[in-house]
Amino acid sequence: MILKGFEDLKRFLEKPKNIVIIGHRNPDGDAVGSTLALKHYLDKKGHGATVVMPNEYPDFLHWLPGSETVYRFDWQNKQSQKAISNSDIIFLLDFNTLHRVGYDMQNTLEKYPNDFAMIDHHQQPDDVTYMYSDTEICSTCQMVYQFIEMNNDLDLIDAAIATCLYTGIMTDTGSFRFRSTTSKTHRIIADLIDKGAENDRIHNNVYDANSYNRLLLLGKALSNLQILPTYKTAYITLTDEEKKRFDFQKGDTEGIVNYALSLKGIVFAAIFIEDSEQNLVKISFRSKGKFSVNQFARNHFEGGGHDNAAGGKSNVSLAETVTKFSGLLGQYQSELENSYEI
Ligand code: 5GP
Ligand code: MN
Repeated sequence: MILKGFEDLKRFLEKPKNIVIIGHRNPDGDAVGSTLALKHYLDKKGHGATVVMPNEYPDFLHWLPGSETVYRFDWQNKQSQKAISNSDIIFLLDFNTLHRVGYDMQNTLEKYPNDFAMIDHHQQPDDVTYMYSDTEICSTCQMVYQFIEMNNDLDLIDAAIATCLYTGIMTDTGSFRFRSTTSKTHRIIADLIDKGAENDRIHNNVYDANSYNRLLLLGKALSNLQILPTYKTAYITLTDEEKKRFDFQKGDTEGIVNYALSLKGIVFAAIFIEDSEQNLVKISFRSKGKFSVNQFARNHFEGGGHDNAAGGKSNVSLAETVTKFSGLLGQYQSELENSYEI
């Protein structure tokens, strides 16, 4: 755990400030939940906080309280730039290094004259002025709760904040099932329910909001699943043509990789998604047990993340990416065999 400059930050925030809060590119439930929760909290403390996301997030997160106030840097560039240049400080949430916001926004942030404050649970964070980093904590949303707790402000958590925090903890823990989910996580969740988070409504809004096409895309993905029993590995591919055929919308592929990991005996799963707009293949990795997909993604696919959930990318074709991936598994065979007692 790194807690750097916390007392100075507290002092800095004693007077009302203009604050921008940023999550990573392709924001997930934890990024949107944590940034909005922090915004609501800082607003309640008398600051003026604005969430600026690098780009759009899935429809199933648009119902979150405050979502209508979020700027997307790519298509609301003027408003975003203005908020950034008017800000006294920028909070970086749910990412560990500036390039995770994408090239254009990174360029803007690199010229930022004031300080950054990071709250994040990813490994190997960049060094910024104020830091709260803890890779043991399941989600940035749990860290925002603990940040509010460190400020002795738990009584400021209202239904809106509780809803945002509940959502991010839920999505980043696979609905409270990953090993990162601790008794403390459950105690925090209990407190969030007491403070107004409606658990059934949140689960319903996030997980039962599928379009028919999304289910058909999932069907296609499952029919593309390949199993490599020697390496306890399974992977899924989706081409651009397949995405188009089922009217792909942002967020539609979220969670599909977990179906590959749900196979009995499988400890390593990947999904390779062609993105011809960006001219790359976006990859999600998941594992069970000791095999670190963070390390695998870092070593071979310009990515990173957590031990059991990471992402990366590849600049060669989908077929070549899969060939590269399969070719790498031999060197990890014994690690994969011993990753998890099943
Ligand atoms: P997902 O596969 O759901 O997109 O991401 C899984 C985890 O890996 C998340 O914590 C995400 O922030 C991280 N991650 C995804 N893609 C990348 C990447 O390209 N680089 C790094 N450093 N982390 C990533
Ligand atoms: Mn997260």
